[in-house]
Amino acid sequence: MKTYIVGNWKMNLTIGESSIYLQKLLKRIKPAKGLEIAVAPSVIALQPLRMQIDKIKSKVKLAVQNFYHRDYGAYTGEVSIMQLRGLVDYAIIGHSERRYLFNETNKDIRQKVAAAIRNGITPILCIGETENEKSFGETVDVIKDQLNSGLSEIDAEDVKKVIIAYEPVWAISSNKGARLAAPDDVAESINTIREELKAIYGSAVAEEVAVLYGGSVNPNNAGAYLTIPGVNGLLIGGSSLISDHFIDIIETAKRVKG
Ligand code: PEP
Repeated sequence: MKTYIVGNWKMNLTIGESSIYLQKLLKRIKPAKGLEIAVAPSVIALQPLRMQIDKIKSKVKLAVQNFYHRDYGAYTGEVSIMQLRGLVDYAIIGHSERRYLFNETNKDIRQKVAAAIRNGITPILCIGETENEKSFGETVDVIKDQLNSGLSEIDAEDVKKVIIAYEPVWAISSNKGARLAAPDDVAESINTIREELKAIYGSAVAEEVAVLYGGSVNPNNAGAYLTIPGVNGLLIGGSSLISDHFIDIIETAKRVKG
């Protein structure tokens, strides 16, 4: 199983800033077997960054942060995953900012997962409970519900191409008062995800699905999250905006998982 380090830049960095960041990343990181590095810039930066990567045949991958689930048509202002083919390898889907700031429903999310698979792009399906859900003891139910509905159009063969990212919403740094999730709590939720994948698809298939952790990961705590059993990598927001921090986390992943 590969280890994935994915940086979500959200609505930050201009095209120029993205390009300078990528240049630094490409210069400083050496390819390592089994380690997959991806960044998700703003959609307008995807094409220039793609050209930068292709020019030097780097293995760094690009991810899109959002798209519309239909392939083409009269959907003013939208970008389809079909149009993103050749630009990105990964698509972040169901991020809590999309769910709660832009009211994306479970139906939108499952349609996007299916659209990504249909177009040969790896979905990174984000799931996780809010602060309220956690306080009502609903974490397990929320995880199972989001997992089942997100994957409801995906069969056992295709689910191996899906990456799940467990991101407790209360631990995401853009949320007021975000706090660090204790590795033991994360381990419990990762276990819930693996058990649910087993229940849906069987053990052999479930073992082939990569599960990432995301939520205020930084260079100091990355090692602790990466050593949780069943964690195959990290989805990083805030810390991925500082290239030195992102590179530090990549180095940690090489040490811990190498
Ligand atoms: C995220 O938004 O996916 C995320 C994990 O953000 P942060 O690392 O800033 O908590």
